[in-house]
Amino acid sequence: MSDSTFLDFTSATETSAANERHFSALRRGEASTDRIASVRISAATLPLKGAISDAKVLTGRQKPLRDVAFLFAEIRTEAGLEGVGFSYSKRAGGAGQYAHAREVAPELLGEDPSDIQRIWTKLVWAGASVGRSGLATQAIAAFDIALWDLKAKRAGLPLAKLLGAHRDSVQCYNTSGGFLSSSIEEVIENAAQTAANGIGGVKIKVGQPDTKIDLKRVAAVKEAIGDRIDLMVDANQQWNRSTAVRMGRAFEEFDLTWIEEPLDAYDAEGHADLARELATPIATGEMLTSVAEHAELIRHRSVDFIQPDAPRVGGITPFLKIMALGETARLRMAPHFAMELHLHLAAAYEHDPWVEHFDWLEPLFNERLETEGGRMIVPARPGIGVSLSDQARAWTTATETFGV
Ligand SMILES: [Mg+2]
Repeated sequence: MSDSTFLDFTSATETSAANERHFSALRRGEASTDRIASVRISAATLPLKGAISDAKVLTGRQKPLRDVAFLFAEIRTEAGLEGVGFSYSKRAGGAGQYAHAREVAPELLGEDPSDIQRIWTKLVWAGASVGRSGLATQAIAAFDIALWDLKAKRAGLPLAKLLGAHRDSVQCYNTSGGFLSSSIEEVIENAAQTAANGIGGVKIKVGQPDTKIDLKRVAAVKEAIGDRIDLMVDANQQWNRSTAVRMGRAFEEFDLTWIEEPLDAYDAEGHADLARELATPIATGEMLTSVAEHAELIRHRSVDFIQPDAPRVGGITPFLKIMALGETARLRMAPHFAMELHLHLAAAYEHDPWVEHFDWLEPLFNERLETEGGRMIVPARPGIGVSLSDQARAWTTATETFGV
């Protein structure tokens, strides 16, 4: 499909005229009614600058990561308003998400875009045979996020404010410079750069087969950064229960903000035992793909930090339910990946959250987020505050539009 066809769909002039009609109706005291007129889905492959490895690669479970598959959803209403959402997959699964989205997309046509919960349930039931978690709901996530983006734009508010923000900025830490594919010198250099860029912490990967190397890398980074910024470690699920206890005790002296994914993501009881054993907070949840799976961790008191990922759990609608459970249990939150989206959700979470600074997605969007004094600033733009870049269009491998 040519670029001009894309531009036809997202004409800025048309969108601003639609916004003007919408807001003048509101000024006249008329409720704005609208229907979903068209839905476009696109698959795009985001190449990474180099091959990335964490502990799952060093233990032989996965190959180095070279790119990330994205599913974009663009929803347009009869009045001409638009919302954009996305889901993603690392390694296998991107083609499956796109195929599922393609099957359920027609269900959106003619719906009131404000009825997001009902639409989410409708989309889930359309594919109920393949379940209410994992790939099927991740395909729905792109639509759900687009609908929340649209709703916030209709309200003329950033998503964080539509949800009810606790704060206008969120403390943030950098992950992209701490992978095991980087030498310790590179990791230390990145940590210094991170602090200079106004980011409040760094997370480095551990969990490799030789635990002595993990200890050396953590000690070297801690020595380099001192107490100037926070330090977290992430084992990407590669320890067994006894190794996690031993490593957790060895790390106590470094005053880590948290230890992430020490155990298998589904080992709720093991995490609960570990959390009781260690003074250092435990964080996990990025691999989970439903509210029910997160509820299991929270019920077992397995973690100090929940780490939900909106695209992975099926969108913002289920994410808000996880937030409610986490807040009720008085847990902290550090959402996984996709800072552009999770910044808004973290800003609306009560208990002192962190957001993960991951610059990988930046080429997909025209806008950039600002960091200052260790915090990421919630943008003032309506909605999520991102629009797809020409580069994202150029990386598009498949696209289809439903409706007019
Ligand atoms: Mg992680």
